[in-house]
Amino acid sequence: MSHGYRARGIMDAGGTNEATGADLTPAPGSQPMSGWYVPPPAEPLKSDEDLRREREAKVEELRLRGLLRSSRIRTAMLAVRREDFVPRGYRDHVYEEIPLPLPGEQATISCPHSYPLFYEELGLRRGHRFLEVGVGSGYGTALAREIVGPEGLVVSVELDAVTLAFARGNLERAGYADVVLVHGDGGLGCPGHAPYDRICVTAACPEVPPPLLEQLRIGGRLAAPILEDGRQLLTLVRKTARGVRRTTICDVLYVPLRGRYGVGSWSPAPWRNRGGPTARARLVISCPDLGSCRRTRTALRRALPGADVARTGFGGVLTVECQGDVLALAEQVTRGCGPDTGHVTAVLDEVPSEPEALSGAAVRIGAEHVGPGESFAFRIRKRGAHGLVEATPELERAIGGAIWGALQAKLGRAPRVDLSDPDVTIRAEVLGPLTFVGITRKAWRAGTT
Ligand code: SAH
Repeated sequence: MSHGYRARGIMDAGGTNEATGADLTPAPGSQPMSGWYVPPPAEPLKSDEDLRREREAKVEELRLRGLLRSSRIRTAMLAVRREDFVPRGYRDHVYEEIPLPLPGEQATISCPHSYPLFYEELGLRRGHRFLEVGVGSGYGTALAREIVGPEGLVVSVELDAVTLAFARGNLERAGYADVVLVHGDGGLGCPGHAPYDRICVTAACPEVPPPLLEQLRIGGRLAAPILEDGRQLLTLVRKTARGVRRTTICDVLYVPLRGRYGVGSWSPAPWRNRGGPTARARLVISCPDLGSCRRTRTALRRALPGADVARTGFGGVLTVECQGDVLALAEQVTRGCGPDTGHVTAVLDEVPSEPEALSGAAVRIGAEHVGPGESFAFRIRKRGAHGLVEATPELERAIGGAIWGALQAKLGRAPRVDLSDPDVTIRAEVLGPLTFVGITRKAWRAGTT
């Protein structure tokens, strides 16, 4: 299959990228270009009957390609007239695999194949409570309404008032009055109708907006394009009683999510971009209050003139970076800054703020750093918006238990847990979507008063 162009580096989207081999064949007469072909708006020539035939052919094609599998989604795609959800000038192109522009600042109706792609992965079924982020044309909203049926609920949130007005008109004319349309920032979800069985984000985000995870029912699923190293990965998140599990489905291209958790406004880790050799040692210092934080910064600048001492944007939390051995540095800082410093953690790993990644790092670090005869504890301090939905005591118990098991296997005897004054504390300092995992040693405090 030859496209004659590459679907890359564009923000005008809503479809599968070439990586999945989706058919993005441009319409006749289009020019090779570095994005999707946007047909010039024109007075429609096709009849309703022409478009009905195209719709049926499209549904059959998606079925043969394995993108469309369940009969409920198939029936919905046959029932909803996609031509009712695009500006009149694009009507004749509505069954082509191209995203089409919509009224508003940054909105497109996604390619036809992207709807079964998301909804099949989500396992959207009759009776579900469904939340869509990004109403756009309202086409995905209408499909969801058909799929969940009268027992279910469809809530859809749109940031752009002009786009929302367009979608509302489309939905009303097409007879879908029983959907809840909300004007607002979909990154914040819609708590009034939560919890949801399924959530679909139709704009690319730096991370899954934490409020959406909170509003997802245990056992629920969420699909979203997640930005990673310049790619957008359609990511399926399953929420279980033990945390969230993520699966990457394929590359996609969507317009960027805006708002509180949107692109640009929510950067996972500003200090990550500072560069510098990776051999540098890093500490996280968590101070009890802002006064102590100020004093600690002054003391650090004096004691370690070459170090990079930075605020993290989270109150009372500093990072220190400098050349050298991280454990020796942590000891030096703990002694040098005195008892007022707060917790000094020697950072040994940096992971996404999700239970599995965190647990894996904590177990590895615990098994490596807790010596025979030493007591240990595991502590988490959560800050900002993160994916650790379980309560802190439960997470500490579960991950502490996993460290215990790994140590027992390594030492050949039961390790000692001491929650009040352990020799080694394995610490997870959660700073929004990133978690620093490392250790603090009791011995570092010896000699401080
Ligand atoms: N599901 C849509 C695709 C829309 S494109 C459809 O089927 O047509 C993405 C949409 O997300 C745009 O309409 C854009 O305005 C909207 N959007 C971007 N950021 C948003 C946010 N934070 N909250 C709600 N909508 C947002």
